Parts: sequence; C-alpha cells; structure tokens
Amino acid sequence: MLSIAVLGSTGSIGCSTLDVLRLHPQKYRVFALSAATRYKELGAQCLKWQPKFAVMTSLPHAQLLEAYLQAENCPTRVLFGTEGLETIAAHPDVDCVMAAIVGSAGLRSSLAAAKAGKRLLLANKESLVVGGDLFMQAVQHGGATLLPIDSEHSAIFQALPLDRTCWPQHIDKIVLTASGGPFRQTSPSALHDITPAQACAHPNWVMGQKISIDSATMMNKALEVIEAKYLFGLEPAQIEVVIHPQSVIHSMVQFVDQSVVAQMGTPDMRVPIAYGLSWPDRIASGAPALDFRQMGHLSFESILDNGHPERFPALGLAWACLSGPQGSCAVLNAANEVAVDCFLKQQIRFDQIAQINQHILSEDFASDVASIDALLALDEATRAKTHEYIRSTLGR
Ligand code: NAD
Ligand code: MG
Repeated sequence: MLSIAVLGSTGSIGCSTLDVLRLHPQKYRVFALSAATRYKELGAQCLKWQPKFAVMTSLPHAQLLEAYLQAENCPTRVLFGTEGLETIAAHPDVDCVMAAIVGSAGLRSSLAAAKAGKRLLLANKESLVVGGDLFMQAVQHGGATLLPIDSEHSAIFQALPLDRTCWPQHIDKIVLTASGGPFRQTSPSALHDITPAQACAHPNWVMGQKISIDSATMMNKALEVIEAKYLFGLEPAQIEVVIHPQSVIHSMVQFVDQSVVAQMGTPDMRVPIAYGLSWPDRIASGAPALDFRQMGHLSFESILDNGHPERFPALGLAWACLSGPQGSCAVLNAANEVAVDCFLKQQIRFDQIAQINQHILSEDFASDVASIDALLALDEATRAKTHEYIRSTLGR
C-alpha cells in the first residue's frame, strides 16, 4: 500500500486526486491532507479519510479545524503553516506526495518532498517556474521520482520512453496544445470589459480560479512552456505551442526521425493523476472514454494566425524570461499571481493583467538568485512591487 500526502486536498486537483484514490482502496492510503483556510471542507475530508495529519495555513484556522475534529471524535492531528506542510511532505511514513497547492506558496512543500526522495506528483507548476534548475537539482539529489500532473506534461511524459537517459537524443521538439480558452475568438478590444466570471468559464476544463484566469490570458501556457523546459531538459526553441480547441490531444512529442507521438483523452485531470499514482503501471481513473465516432474533427491553429496576434501577449513572455536573467521566471510568476488576484477582486481590468506583467518584467531586478531562499525573496519583493505599481498607477 502506498501512503499518500495530498497537499491542497480541497482544491480542484486535490478533490480529483481523492476521487481516483476512492477507486483503489487496496492500493493507496491517505496519510495527510491540507488546505489554506476552508477548515470545514478539510474537516469533512478528514472524517472520510481518517488521515494521520491535516495542515492549515495559519494557527487560528488550525484551531478551528482541531475543534471541528474533536467534536466529531476524529483523531487526525492538526499542524499549520509552511513547517506543517514540510513535515508531512517529508514524513518518513509518506511514500507519495501530491503537490496540488496553487501558486509559489506550494514551492517549499514540493521541495521538501523532493529532498526527502518521495514519489512527487507535481501539479504545482509554480515549483518549477520559480525553482527552475535548483528545483530539478533537489529532485536529483534527493532521489525523488518526479511525475508531472499538468495534462500537457503528463501527455509528453506518456509519449516518451521510460528510460530518461534517451530523451536528449530522441526529442526533436515538443508541441504543447492550448485550447485557446474562453477568448480564443474574442476581439482584443473586447477584452477590456471581461468579468472574472466570464474569464473563469473555460470551454473544456473545470479548474481552480487562478489557473482558469491564466488559461484565459494564455499565461498558463507561458508557465507550461517554462515548466516543460525544466521537466524534460529542453532548449526553449524546442518548445512549440499550437491552439487545439477541442482539447483531445493533450500534447505531442516530435522525435528526431520526425515521428510524432500524441496522447489523447477526454479533458479530465483524473487521467494524468491516475498515471502519476500508478506509473509505470496503469490503473482506472474514473474518467469517461473518448468516443471517436462522436468526436467530429480535430483542428489546429497557429497562435499568430488566428486573426489577432496581440490577443495573447502573455505567451511570448515565457521565451523572453527563459532567455533573460536568472530569476526572471520567478518575477513573471509573482507579478502574475498578484495581477490575477487583483483582477478577481475587481481592482484591475482583465487586459491590465498582461500590461502589469510586462511592466514588472521590464524593470530588471532579477539578479543574485543562487538559492531557493533567494528566489522566494525575489518572489516576495516582486509581489510588493506589483501591488505598489497597481496601487499607484492602475487601481480603481
Ligand atoms: P485550487 O485553487 O482549486 O486549489 C488550491 C488548493 O491549494 C486548495 O486546497 C487550497 O486550500 C490550497 N491553497 C491555496 N493557497 C494556499 C496557500 N497559500 N498555502 C497552502 N495551501 C493553499 O487550484 P487547482 O486548480 O487545484 O490547482 C492546483 C495546482 O495545480 C496549481 O498549481 C495549478 O496550476 C495546477 N494545475 C491544475 C489543473 C486543474 O485542472 N485544476 C491542471 C493542471 C495544473
Ligand atoms: Mg495544463
């Protein structure tokens, strides 16, 4: 039996993970769960799964959860804060960690799992966007098994040979597919008046709020380009993005002989989650099957050819950051997290998200980042700077 810690268990990926685990009670046992502030949701999960530990972000929330669990005679021990997350991620009784916290807030716990040599199911793409090479080094030194959960990266991982040492000689390039989000055909001038509800209404996937907004701006694809570079050890020029509105092909690898292997499936995160849990084996995911007779056609569009190349200014920032000074990716991620949060709070407009990211990146202050601590300090400094920029120039 594999013992699992699910970090961010109340979120979209966290709940899908528990859905898959529910199908395989003989194979997996839940050792720990975590949530930011929603103690009642985490409490209900604890009553169901009876984990050894549950972690909340703050002491007051941990106390609320503790009281909730005591009233129900649930023996789960409650921890809090980053230290609590690191404790469960590196716990000797844990075999496998699902890293499904949103944002750079998930980096330290992913890193703890990497250093402790766990089987690490990485949904938290920000760990790689912010941590980059340093994160990959920690995975290697810790002897962790890093398994991508992002659907595109799982698709590429499924298309590649099991023996990673072949990857550099075999891969010509990878093609990340992008649905284009809810505004694929919206005129750029109409992006001015988009509301958070409109931006969160993704045509194919049901996801958390942050990644839904990122999918609408295409920043999600920019973050995925950076994620792919580190996961698969690629040059930025080996990564291509193509719009594929049906979200049936989740990504492809083009090998040096020009053979292309694509992975397909319904847009359901339980598929990559099940693969991460069972790799190199396969288990049932609970996802519906593709029906090729009902599917109709699959189409592809170049981002530049779809009428308005200026519609998705976020995407190009990935390559700009990868060729910029070290730490640029961390700056981009932090600025974007703040901008998305301000958009969700209706403090800025939708089209200002890209403008803010571009402005913050243009202020070159990403230097001296030789450690994860330095990267997280840069993350914090960028957040402060972005808030200040929004407050002084854009806020309404
Ligand atoms: P979500 O917002 O639905 O859930 C986030 C989880 O993290 C929740 O349990 C929340 O309580 C917890 N959390 C939030 N802030 C926290 C903090 N500061 N400290 C500790 N815990 C915190 O997000 P999601 O959509 O499930 O995404 C999770 C991660 O997976 C993200 O990195 C996202 O990019 C990635 N991802 C998600 C999907 C998807 O389909 N949802 C697909 C690919 C990748
Ligand atoms: Mg993805």
